[in-house]
Amino acid sequence: MGDIGTPSWQSGACPDWCTVEHAEQDHPDDRSHRDDGIAVPVAFRIRRFVGAELVEEVAQGHLVLGRWQRDGDPRTWYLLGDDNGTELELSEESFRRLVDSMQRLIDGPPAMRAQPSPRRS
Ligand SMILES: [Zn+2]
Repeated sequence: MGDIGTPSWQSGACPDWCTVEHAEQDHPDDRSHRDDGIAVPVAFRIRRFVGAELVEEVAQGHLVLGRWQRDGDPRTWYLLGDDNGTELELSEESFRRLVDSMQRLIDGPPAMRAQPSPRRS
C-alpha cells in the first residue's frame, strides 16, 4: 500500500498482503507490515469447577490469524490469537508445521480420530 508517498524510513515495497497505510511519523516500533487478519468463528469447550463439580459448556468466539513483518526484516511472523488478546507469533516454518499437523489430525487414520463413545443403554 505504500506506493504513493512511501515514507523515507521504509526499506522497500510492502509485501503484497500488507494493508497498512504507512506514514512518515510512524513510531519506530510501529514500522511493520501487517494484513487485516482473518477472524475464524469457533466453538470451544470450557470445563470448570463449580464447587466440587466439573461443569462443561460450549462457548463461541474467534481465533484470529494474520501476518506481520518488521520493515527491513525478511522474516514473516504468523499470528494466532483469540478474543481475549492471547497471541502467538510463529515463524513461517513453525506455522507450516502446525498447519500440516492439523491437517493430518483431521484427515488421519481412523485410529487417530475421536470415535463416538459406545452407547451404554
Ligand atoms: Zn506495509
